[in-house]
Amino acid sequence: MSLPIVKISKHGAARLRSGHPWVYRSDLRLNEKPAAGALVTVAAENRRPLGTAFYSSASEIALRLLSPHVLPDEPAVLALLRERVHAAVAYRHKVVANANAYRVLFSEADGIPGFIADRYNSIVSIQMLTQAVDRPDVKQTLVSALLKELAPEGVTTILERVEPRIRQLEQMADSEGGILAGSETSSVYEMNGVRFNYEAGAGQKTGAFLDQRENYAAAERHARGEALDVFCYQGGFSLHLARKCPAVAAIDSSRPALEVAEQNEQLNPGHVAVEWIEGNAFDFLKDYSTQGRQYDTIVLDPPAFARGKQNLETAMRGYKELNLRALKMLRPGGILVTCSCSFHVSDQDFLAVLTAAASDVHRNVILLEHRTQSADHPIVLTVPETHYLKCLIVTAV
Ligand code: SAH
Repeated sequence: MSLPIVKISKHGAARLRSGHPWVYRSDLRLNEKPAAGALVTVAAENRRPLGTAFYSSASEIALRLLSPHVLPDEPAVLALLRERVHAAVAYRHKVVANANAYRVLFSEADGIPGFIADRYNSIVSIQMLTQAVDRPDVKQTLVSALLKELAPEGVTTILERVEPRIRQLEQMADSEGGILAGSETSSVYEMNGVRFNYEAGAGQKTGAFLDQRENYAAAERHARGEALDVFCYQGGFSLHLARKCPAVAAIDSSRPALEVAEQNEQLNPGHVAVEWIEGNAFDFLKDYSTQGRQYDTIVLDPPAFARGKQNLETAMRGYKELNLRALKMLRPGGILVTCSCSFHVSDQDFLAVLTAAASDVHRNVILLEHRTQSADHPIVLTVPETHYLKCLIVTAV
């Protein structure tokens, strides 16, 4: 049976032609509402076909284009999804080195809107963020395709991680998540030769911040002297710095995150002991900078301060305060690795914040590296939302 047809406005069609896969609800020209999560053919108002898409009955983003081709039926869509999983895995083979933890599939960036898959050695943690990928037939297709591609490399288990808030917004039935295939609930994974624990269902995001993998290695290359990792979570940066620096302190407000960090430290013996500090980063930096404490290397990797455009200004103030304090605490020639994972804070905005902080401390701050998310989180140029992580490495003379 061919797919239901959804007509869209000229404006919507132009957006698709520009290479962006989203069509907003206001651009739909519906006679009849498709079912929640339907696989549909998209057409212009004059019936000219524009491709195949996922439909959501809940999101303002009503359509997410899968292909500019019209696919004949649902089995053809499922076959395309299998091809997309294959291509995503092949791309990771090219861009991921020295790690068995990485993002296998990044939603729109890999042509499967709303689907995220992160590998932690033998376990792949998946998230279904839209109605269409949550359909049992689509989900089953994705799970078996992932297993087929990755079992030869040692993946045994696929588990689903659920964000209740997203399921509510997307009007998807409540789900517990949990194991969909296999039986492992924990693994030890490696990035750049540093080992980490993975515990199914625990932690933030799908477990770790895999998008920083290449930045960990870059930070380690530049790091020296006494180091401080602010917002350390489970120790991603700290444990890299501990291979290079004679002293490393790390701070986070989350006790559970620090407990995992300590376990991770034990997996990597032979390096300097990290001093794990539980506390509020803002208070800590204020106290330490007032006391005149200095460091040779500082990493700042705060949570996304700007959740939307509305609180952009507050977010910018937060970034400014952190970076200003960090620059004040850097010894001459010191290294600052500073990150922002807020999509709403652009590259330019973030550079501007750091520039303002540099100007306020009256120091010459030199940009050593202008970095972004690791290559397993592909940035599609025509889909700006895929580019969210900023990581600047500077030295303050
Ligand atoms: N650098 C980490 C990721 C950091 S995520 C890595 O590479 O894995 C942001 C972290 O900030 C989380 O661990 C969260 O617990 C912590 N956090 C949020 N608000 C905080 C605050 N005010 N003070 C200290 N830590 C905070």
